[in-house]
Order: sequence, then C-alpha cells, then structure tokens
Amino acid sequence: MFYGDTIAAISTARGKGGVALLRISGPDAIFVCEKVFLPKSGKPLSQYAPRTAIFGSILAPDDRGAWNEIDNGLATVFRAPASFTGEDTVEICCHGGILLTQTVLTACFAAGARAAEAGEFTRRAFLNGKMGLSAAEALGDLLEAQTREQLTLAHAGTDGRVERKCREIYDALCAVLSSVYAKIDYPDEDLADMSREEMEASLAECSARIEKLLDTYRTGHAIAEGIPTVICGKPNVGKSSLYNRIVGRDAAIVTDVEGTTRDVLTEVASLGRVTLRLFDTAGLHETDDVVEKIGIDRARKALADAELILAVFDGSVAPDEEDNALAASLADTNATVIAVINKSDLGVVKEDFYTSHFSHTITLSAKDGEGLEVLSALVESCFINGELDTKTDTVLTNARQKGAALTALEAINRAREGLAYGLPVELCCSDCEAAMQAIAELDGRAVSEDIVSHIFSHFCVGK
Ligand code: GDP
Repeated sequence: MFYGDTIAAISTARGKGGVALLRISGPDAIFVCEKVFLPKSGKPLSQYAPRTAIFGSILAPDDRGAWNEIDNGLATVFRAPASFTGEDTVEICCHGGILLTQTVLTACFAAGARAAEAGEFTRRAFLNGKMGLSAAEALGDLLEAQTREQLTLAHAGTDGRVERKCREIYDALCAVLSSVYAKIDYPDEDLADMSREEMEASLAECSARIEKLLDTYRTGHAIAEGIPTVICGKPNVGKSSLYNRIVGRDAAIVTDVEGTTRDVLTEVASLGRVTLRLFDTAGLHETDDVVEKIGIDRARKALADAELILAVFDGSVAPDEEDNALAASLADTNATVIAVINKSDLGVVKEDFYTSHFSHTITLSAKDGEGLEVLSALVESCFINGELDTKTDTVLTNARQKGAALTALEAINRAREGLAYGLPVELCCSDCEAAMQAIAELDGRAVSEDIVSHIFSHFCVGK
C-alpha cells in the first residue's frame, strides 16, 4: 500500500545536540528534499545512488520566501521499497540546534511535505509489509526500555520472530483447511488430502506450538510490561527504605516519624531480570488523619491490582496484632506475596510467625542492603522461566499478543474436540478458520484499524 502524501519529522529527540536527523518519506520525498538540500557536487540528489551519504547545503526560505543556506549536512536517499517505511525516503543530518532543526523541518513543509503523526513512519513500514505488528510493538518497547533486560528482549523481537512462528502455525492450519475444502469442491478428483488422523495430528501440533508460545508470556510480561508490585506494611517497618534500596536512590523519604509516606509513590525498577512497576504505599493502620486515610485507601487500591506484594515487617520486634491482621488480609490474594522480614541487622525474633503465614519469606536489611540479592533471586524465580533465552527464543511480550494466542488455542482445541467426538471434518473447519483469524491478528496481517491506531499512537513523532 502506498500513500499519496509525503511526511517529514525530526527523528532525533528535541534538544541541543551535535547532530539531528530529519526524515522525509513518501512518493515526493526526493522532490521535497531537492528543494531543501543542494549537494555540493552540483549533481541533483535524484541522480545519486541510494544509501550513499551526500554532503551538501541545507536551505530554508526566509520571511520573503527566498531560499538561503542555513546549514551544511548530509543527505541519504533510500529508494522504495528498500527503506524503513518501504517508500522513497530521505534522511537529512544537520547540526542539532533546536531552532535550526525546526527551521529545516519547516523548510520541508514549505517544499511540500506534511508533518508526520506520532509513529507514522513505523505505521507506514507496517502497512507496507516491512515489519509485522509484533515487531513494530517490539520497536516501540525498544524506545521505551528502562532496564537492560527490556532492551535485550525488545531488540530480539524486532527481527520478526513472533511473526515467523505465527506464519508456521498459520500455514499448518491452512494446509488442513485446504485439504478439507479441496475434497468438498472436487469430490471426484483423486486429491492427496489429509487423513482424519493426519488432521488431528496437525492440529495437536499447532495447539502445542501455541501453548509453548503462551508459556513465554509470564516471562515476557515480567520483563516488558513489568509486574505491578506493592510494598506494604505497618508504619516504620522500613517500606520506604526497601523502595529506595530497590530503585537505587533516595526516592522516598525515610524517617522514623509514622505516616511520612502519605501518597502512593511509583517508579519502574528492576530486581534481577524482573521489571517492577513499584508502588510504595502509606503504612496500613488505623488513623484519624484525613490525608493519611486517603493515602491508606490508595494503598488498598494498589494492593488490589498488584501481582507481587512485598509485605514488610520489622523482624527485630515481635509481631503484633497489626502484623497478624496484615498476614490474614493477604491470605486470599491472587498476587504472589513475599514476606520481607526487615531490620535483620538488629536480629530477628519470632521467624516462625512469618514462615507459618507465608510461603515465601526473606530476611533482609533495607538499611545496609544485606539480603537484597536473595530477594532478587526469589522474585526472578517466581516470574522468569530460567530456561528461556530472551536473546534467541520467541517470547510474547504483551497482553494483546497473549489474548490473540489464547483465542487461537481455544479455537484449535474446539476443532480437536469436534474431531475426537467424531464430527465430520467439515464441521471443524470454522474453528480452524477462527484460529487462523486469531493468528493473523497476532502477527498483524488481519488486525483491526483501531488496534493498529492504538499501537502506533504510543510511538513518538519521527519514529
Ligand atoms: P516506613 O514507614 O515503613 O516506610 O519505614 P522507613 O523506611 O521510613 O523506616 C523507618 C525507620 O526504620 C527509619 O528510621 C529507618 O532508618 C529505619 N530502618 C529501615 N530499614 C531498616 C533496617 O533494615 N535496619 C535498621 N536498623 N533500621 C531500618
């Protein structure tokens, strides 16, 4: 699919820098750039071989419309379809001043381009078949990555590995369907169709492949999306100290004054290979303080959405009624709960209280960091499949991918149940088609416009 219009944007971040990169993409990209960029050689830009860096003058119109040189720089031409977007594209490298880059961009508009929308270059790449939807999502994750583990996983996904797995499953389903339909359409021909057993085996294989993919989501989710994690406990047990220890800086105020943390603080941090979307909360206890009460309400809401709860206790003193109440209130949660027995530097009393209430306990000192490594390892073992290699294996990284894979699995399993029940093969075909549709949504071949718009709206302008 090719668009009629040509877009331009500054692709580097806004700010002062040594160099900045502007991108122009669309059918008139080279025509637009020829007005803005004059090669020093005098040879027109359009006559250069693609993918060569060309040195030249960068021009922009003044108030009276006269075009003057405002900078020197490099231009690189990419010819459709061998470009990121799949369209004719020119990249201009100029010096990185804020006014300068804005002036060059305005010159591109004066020459006929229009302003690119957020994510529009990548959206064009996707719509022109240069990348699948999961690869585009991985690219978005790469730009958003805040931890090293997220970087590794996102980079791996940009090579289209999810799409390749989808293609294998899609083709296997397609083979099953075409065999059935060929027999229905040409009953008199001696077509090499699949036997019922072969069909069952092929569907079982597809189902196993999707289950394997789905199994990766827990790890992908823990790294890419991050685990909503709440640190909770009574006042003064060391919640903020633990929060600071995990985020690696003094983000939360630590005092021995009760009720210091009144609102929910939040930050992205990594613990081992797991990304935590970490919430430090107000100490859970009875209070008449209006502001603290609001904080405690918010803490309870954060707890309800948490997938990991770090329940902090002051291990140096005997557990009291409030500790008992906290342990009881966490007994039925769906989240993974780790009891953090803090202040180990002061000694631990009544350790059996914690082991009797929680399946995961850890002794540490938030003050000096002792025990944090063990907490990291425990969190990692709860959320990461150590056998997965995120550099080489295919990993599902977001809820959209998981949802589509689950829909495909359910449809295939319905078809398998039908076959096992003895239904005619034709009757199982609509489930196979539904599975193919879900796989096509997963890799983006048949995804709704709304979903595509939603995904690309999260990209920055210029990407
Ligand atoms: P919060 O109210 O639960 O957030 O607790 P804070 O993190 O504000 O800590 C309360 C007090 O306990 C402060 O004086 C901290 O310095 C102290 N504290 C926190 N963690 C430790 C620890 O591991 N060992 C010791 N000895 N003191 C700690």
